[in-house]
Amino acid sequence: RIKPVVVANWKMNMTLASISKFVDDFGTESFSAEVVVCPPSPYLYILDALKKQQNRSFTLGAQNVHAEKSGAYTGDVSADQLLDVGCHYVIIGHSERRAIGESNEFIHQKVRQSLETGLIPILCVGETEEERKQGKTNSVVEKQVLTALLNMNDISKVIIAYEPVWAIGTGQSAVPEQAQEVHQFIRSVLIKHFGILANQLPILYGGSAKPDNAKDYSAMNDIDGLLVGGASLKADDFKKIISAFC
Ligand code: 13P
Repeated sequence: RIKPVVVANWKMNMTLASISKFVDDFGTESFSAEVVVCPPSPYLYILDALKKQQNRSFTLGAQNVHAEKSGAYTGDVSADQLLDVGCHYVIIGHSERRAIGESNEFIHQKVRQSLETGLIPILCVGETEEERKQGKTNSVVEKQVLTALLNMNDISKVIIAYEPVWAIGTGQSAVPEQAQEVHQFIRSVLIKHFGILANQLPILYGGSAKPDNAKDYSAMNDIDGLLVGGASLKADDFKKIISAFC
């Protein structure tokens, strides 16, 4: 079975004080799952320093990256810079960024840049409530996956996160079987286009995941981990979620 991956996406939350408390509370336990924490970019460097100092077993990720290598892009952050401050992962194509105008093509460029730089992209896909009602879930998700990975011959370092937009931050999580169905579909699309090695790609679920429902997701065949927003802000909650996959 694929090594599970559990990711904390703090979004635009946390401060120096709450981050330091999170690191304290997280403790020195190590896990059989890969654990990734994605703070807002101003805190990447300090979080890396704190986790090394205190020997914490999570890995650092960023919430966004620019598609270009460097240059006149005020307010943006490059893949090289993320790598420089200790990141190994980067979330790309989150619905909260798609909603403010990121296209599938731009997301594709970001995935490419990240892979070239040596960052592992966590590519987010997912349908809106409207699209689900219209029966378009599979076609929307297929297009998001295939456009983002267009013409890539090695996708062995890619992680996919299925995050139905209607489940994000709403408390209305997808029932595990409903998520499993889409995960299985994504897996079949990947295998069809990239070959049997796509069997090894982690596919994470995200959308109101919490300590109470994590175990139910981990029981599903094609759910290889979680991408957690709200419930990742407190180390205790987050650790309970990680434990469900260990
Ligand atoms: P919530 O867990 O707060 O629903 O957020 C999910 C998410 O968007 C993670 O990227």
